[in-house]
Amino acid sequence: MTLFPEHIAACPDCDLMQRIPALSSGETARCLRCGRSMAAGKTDPLNRTFAFAVAAAIVLIIANVTPLMGLSAVGRHASTTILGGVLKMWQEGQGITAALVAFCTVVAPTIYITFMLTILIALRKDPAPSWIGRLLRISDVSRTWSMVEVMMLGILVALVKIADLATVIPGIGMFAVFALILLVAAMTVSFDPREVWLRIRWADEAAPPVGEERSLRPGDDRAMPAEERSAARLGFVLCGACGLLSKYADPAEPGYCPRCGKALEVRRRQTIQRTWALLIAAAICYIPANLMPVMNTTMPAYAEKDTIMNGVILLYTSGSWPLALIVLIAS
Ligand SMILES: [Zn+2]
Ligand SMILES: [Zn+2]
Repeated sequence: MTLFPEHIAACPDCDLMQRIPALSSGETARCLRCGRSMAAGKTDPLNRTFAFAVAAAIVLIIANVTPLMGLSAVGRHASTTILGGVLKMWQEGQGITAALVAFCTVVAPTIYITFMLTILIALRKDPAPSWIGRLLRISDVSRTWSMVEVMMLGILVALVKIADLATVIPGIGMFAVFALILLVAAMTVSFDPREVWLRIRWADEAAPPVGEERSLRPGDDRAMPAEERSAARLGFVLCGACGLLSKYADPAEPGYCPRCGKALEVRRRQTIQRTWALLIAAAICYIPANLMPVMNTTMPAYAEKDTIMNGVILLYTSGSWPLALIVLIAS
């Protein structure tokens, strides 16, 4: 298998092969053809991310064991934690919602933070063990599912609705959740996965180390027309997980990435047809999602059905215009 040195990369969007220059902090390398960000220079990415991850782990524990908020109404007081709320939903027969809330606000952030801590500690060994690569791929997926901020937005919207009926006392958990949102964002911004892939022991131990064997240097030949410099045209495939370029023998079965072990794909099957199908389905769902009620509020005095737009208007007229704007943009 022929491999390219680390600074030659293919654009994940348009597949143009190009050289990534050494970047200092704050600099971004963009694809020459499509402008996609290919790499970013970061200051001390591993130690900074480790510091944020340790803080996030502490805050995550606080967010889960302390009350999120207390409610006082007609002389009665109640308070709950995130998991307490999930349990209540479960008991009231909202099993799917309870499972989704538990997964997106407790399980996914816990996996993300725990895996990132494990990765950053294991990286201190040289060479770093190859299982780190698998953890990094799972932690990427769990970060996508970590939606603490969506829960907070939901809570804030609900609070505006009940503000006239009850007094809400924010608990320590609420502040911890805000801190968690900021720390997870800081982890994502400061982390540079390339630093991990450079240090890792390869999944395929027989593969030659990067840079030893080269069949061509696309970055050296700027006169080459852009369409000729596509990695697929030149017989290379980009690993979707770790960004390594490797040469394949058979485009139908390019095999596995020698560094991280992920199954390689030269081209996704029926990508345009699938995207069309999903796009049409999404466009159809978009109309009822905006025109039909998303929430039923039942109070002793009245009951009402709210659509997203109604909700935005209500939030705006009750003085929470920043919240109205967030809901409008996000939905
Ligand atoms: Zn590109
Ligand atoms: Zn890979």
